[in-house]
Amino acid sequence: MSEIATTDELLTGDAYLESLRDSRRVYLHGELVDDVTTHPAFRNSARSVAMLYDALHDSKTRDVLTAVDDQGIRTHRFFMPSHDTAELLAAREAIATWSRLNYGFMGRTPDYKAAFMAGLSARPDFYAPFDDNARSWYRRYASRGLFLNHVLINPPIDRNRPVHEVEDVYLHVVRERDGGIVVSGAKMLATGSALTHATFVAQNSAANLEPGKAEDFALVFIAMMDNPGVTLMSRQSYEQRAISPFDHPLSSRFDENDAVMIFDEAFIPWEDVLVYRDVKKATAFYPQSGFVNRYTLQSGVRMAIKLDLMIGLFEMAVRANGTDQFRGVQAAIGEAINWRTAIWGLTTAMCHDTEPFGENHVIPKLPYAATLRMTMTHVWNQLHESLETHLGGSPLVVPSSVHDLRDPDLRPLIDRFYRGSSGSAEERIKVFKLLWDAFGSEFGARHELYERNYSGNQDQIRLDGRNWALRRGELDERMDFARECMADYDTDGWVRGPWQ
Ligand SMILES: Cc1cc2nc3c(=O)[nH]c(=O)nc-3n(C[C@H](O)[C@H](O)[C@H](O)COP(=O)(O)OP(=O)(O)OC[C@H]3O[C@@H](n4cnc5c(N)ncnc54)[C@H](O)[C@@H]3O)c2cc1C
Repeated sequence: MSEIATTDELLTGDAYLESLRDSRRVYLHGELVDDVTTHPAFRNSARSVAMLYDALHDSKTRDVLTAVDDQGIRTHRFFMPSHDTAELLAAREAIATWSRLNYGFMGRTPDYKAAFMAGLSARPDFYAPFDDNARSWYRRYASRGLFLNHVLINPPIDRNRPVHEVEDVYLHVVRERDGGIVVSGAKMLATGSALTHATFVAQNSAANLEPGKAEDFALVFIAMMDNPGVTLMSRQSYEQRAISPFDHPLSSRFDENDAVMIFDEAFIPWEDVLVYRDVKKATAFYPQSGFVNRYTLQSGVRMAIKLDLMIGLFEMAVRANGTDQFRGVQAAIGEAINWRTAIWGLTTAMCHDTEPFGENHVIPKLPYAATLRMTMTHVWNQLHESLETHLGGSPLVVPSSVHDLRDPDLRPLIDRFYRGSSGSAEERIKVFKLLWDAFGSEFGARHELYERNYSGNQDQIRLDGRNWALRRGELDERMDFARECMADYDTDGWVRGPWQ
């Protein structure tokens, strides 16, 4: 057998930044952003992503992060489908290695959407008659390590009406044209989209598409970010508002701007379409594409890294306050540590207890994905409450900004009255500024909203657990088990077993 030639075309950090300099339409404060790589709202976040691309080529991390897939493409380990547990564990390590570069505070790094895109290679037939599009998109994506955002959710308007009745707002196909389709409508919320190459458009598991009526809305496709029919309406930038690295060490470099994405007569070539006017497939994509099984692995690893930072800061903060010997405070930190272990343990289960995917690949079992998806929403809220409870008002016992520390008249006062029980004033303030940016600033509040909602509303996260168990026969098994119990007795007493 002849050896497969390998490609090694993964973007470097510089090439990634250069690739963002195109005609994308990103709006902020009434301004069309000229260059997202230099604009103060996006510059540092773009550099944080570029750092991930550089790590793919760094001799210290290249082998941890990348490998060669079945087609001879060198790519990130999570960008390719996994054959077995060993490959899933290696992919987990690659996800963790990237995540540590932003301390777990960037949720939508390029490996997030890799959860879906790798499935295009393992199971292209699902997308028939567009299966060739799936194959070629995988190659294009994996070989360069492209960065995709995704938009699954219709805007929060007329949610009480059937999808097909909200044509003025919800994204749908307007007409076919030579070479492709024309689409119009809006989607929320395209996290990180200003810094991506393309957007993946579909419906999530909550969308209720009626067969025979909602075909125009039953679409799955990819749109390039420089598509002239696509406009990004950014939310306010926390990076732009950051005072200094000392004051806003996270928001000043890891702000993934969430945008409303508007398609106005956007042309999508057939090559970029995966599902077209097919209600069954558009609805099935979410649980059957491998996406849910895999994105939860990426999110779980990322959450564990984020908790590593938070646990370290929590302990440093209570030591600075002199409250670290109090039993309740210690218990709170123990609880945070245990949650971190539970999350990591679920990712371990996901790598070891797998289900087949496509012809010769595996993905984590869906019930673990459903459980991790739900657990993560609890953990962050729980931690937030615990921080507020056990740090009291101490996060606000910090000067307004680094400028106060630099002032020679104020500095002696700060050094005396802001000292920690376990370190200098500067050390104490540094801990609390970082903590506050993580959970109390507007960036921190956005993170809380994100962790609670990004993978679906609170009901959907739970409903899917039941729906999927129903579909997989697991709920029937549980009912059979309950029937077994009831078969032990009847109205006359025990009918079997040692109690007769
Ligand atoms: C920071 C952030 C980043 C995000 N990034 C992305 C992204 O990159 N891509 C993307 O596609 N989405 C993104 N989202 C959107 C996210 O997926 C949604 O917010 C999430 O799915 C919840 O949906 P929703 O906001 O429409 O809330 P809703 O679904 O409207 O839920 C609000 C409330 O209404 C209830 N409810 C909703 N429908 C029903 C019903 N039929 N019957 C009874 N009760 C109901 C829910 O249970 C909940 O209590 C992001 C969200 C946030 C906050």
